[in-house]
Amino acid sequence: MTAAEPLLKISGLSVVFDGFRAIDGIDLSVAEGELRFLIGPNGAGKTTLIDVVTGLTKPASGSVSFAGRELVGKREHQVVRLGVGRTFQTAVVFEELTVEENVDLAASFRMSLPALFRRRQGRSDAVAAVLERAGLMALAEQPAGILSHGQRQWLEIAMLLAQEPRLLLLDEPVAGMSREERERTGELLVEIARDRTVVVVEHDMEFVRTYASAVTVLHEGRVLTEGDMASVQADPQVQEVYLGR
Ligand code: ADP
Repeated sequence: MTAAEPLLKISGLSVVFDGFRAIDGIDLSVAEGELRFLIGPNGAGKTTLIDVVTGLTKPASGSVSFAGRELVGKREHQVVRLGVGRTFQTAVVFEELTVEENVDLAASFRMSLPALFRRRQGRSDAVAAVLERAGLMALAEQPAGILSHGQRQWLEIAMLLAQEPRLLLLDEPVAGMSREERERTGELLVEIARDRTVVVVEHDMEFVRTYASAVTVLHEGRVLTEGDMASVQADPQVQEVYLGR
């Protein structure tokens, strides 16, 4: 990968479900260190796009290059090992394990056995750092099952961070959160994007306006427009299909 090449480069991507083109020729590039938001009306293809990047859905055509490696054809676990992590609209956490154990388990996923044994000696600095970063240190010993909706989302992000991905794909991380939880999440995303690349699918336009530097608008499986929030909002096509609704 040359310095000028984007970390994630999606080219000519199409996804067809039973003859229906959910993604219809998308080109999309994300540079290293970006905090990029993907917006668009329901059914625009946002989640499907993340599903393709993470190996969950096979495209009918096109390519997904990540750090110069082709992801199409790779399985989910291979994509994780290459450094791409994602969250889901409903957080996937182990309810009966503690918050710390959840993060520890996620971290161990990419480790060799000797490293795993060394780490079981006590709380590793890396796990503590991740818990601190996600604001979950005070809840470290609590079972994940007692967490609030917002705290579960942060735990899932913490579990991702423990796997040290270069690229994080987050699917509606602030859905169902209170205003205060949204603010904390926004600050967390900005902070994560200081040393990683983050792509966020989001419906909450106020949240996008506050935290997005770059936005890509999808509509009917295509990229309608992209740019900074001001130029995207001023685009008459965007107002028609999305913001004006
Ligand atoms: P968004 O995340 O932007 O709301 P999705 O990516 O979830 O949109 O969906 C895009 C389109 O593809 C929608 O019309 C949806 O109904 C359809 N779709 C998504 N997943 C499947 C599937 N597994 N089978 C059939 N159609 C699907």
